[in-house]
Amino acid sequence: MHDLTQYSRRRVQIIELCELGLRPSFIQEAVPGFRTEEIIRMYQAVQGKRSSKGNMPAKDAKFLYNEHTTHQLCLHGSILGRCMDILRRHPLADAVVLITAYREYLRLIHPGEAFIDANRAWTMVQAFRNNKLELIRCSTCHAEYVDGYRMRSNSCPICFTLRKRELYQDAHLALQALAECSS
Ligand SMILES: [Zn+2]
Repeated sequence: MHDLTQYSRRRVQIIELCELGLRPSFIQEAVPGFRTEEIIRMYQAVQGKRSSKGNMPAKDAKFLYNEHTTHQLCLHGSILGRCMDILRRHPLADAVVLITAYREYLRLIHPGEAFIDANRAWTMVQAFRNNKLELIRCSTCHAEYVDGYRMRSNSCPICFTLRKRELYQDAHLALQALAECSS
């Protein structure tokens, strides 16, 4: 009976991962114990099409810190990374971390503006697990962002976005005023 419950729960997870668009080979990693053909069949049933055959993203989430990484991508990575980090403090399976964090990410961003797809998100879960990705607290805005970007410019994507939108000056002055009030 226990095994059957476990089996049903895993099948539901596979369906949820198919809905998010995770490729069958990654689904097999996330939810072990199912045959490749079975997962491919479920993927086609849920998505109504085969999964794409393009290159798989690198497992160490290098897309977050290569020469093509933009501040916007890094900002999205930080939002998603923060959701994952909170969940990782609980004893949850990686599949659950991915499903819950990715759904939260989609809820937080503007509709249709997901810079990070579920496959890249899965590589982030793996990179966190292997300590290849971490969150750094910005000394200016005190928000946390993914470390990858620091290797390139030492700048926080949240501060950069504020600066770009000419809000930075105002935000900085407001923070200073707050600091003076509380001292
Ligand atoms: Zn900052």
